[in-house]
Amino acid sequence: MSFEDLPCVDFVELATDYLEGAMPVKQRLIVERHLAFCSPCVDYLDQMRATVAATGALREQDVPDPVLEPLLHAFRAMHGGGD
Ligand SMILES: [Zn+2]
Repeated sequence: MSFEDLPCVDFVELATDYLEGAMPVKQRLIVERHLAFCSPCVDYLDQMRATVAATGALREQDVPDPVLEPLLHAFRAMHGGGD
């Protein structure tokens, strides 16, 4: 990855880390440089920031336990507890 040549697709991949601050300074500079001349990505970042503020979480795609729990419950009920 060269200094000025960060494709928007790559920026999107890095946006989460950027917001989390989980990024080496060098990479951060590359991202900020991209933001300096790419307003769509600035918009994207703003949106992402708003989402994070609203949900308090960055990784909504992580396995949601509340979805799994009823399934497990139904599975247990189906197979009975005592015989
Ligand atoms: Zn961009």
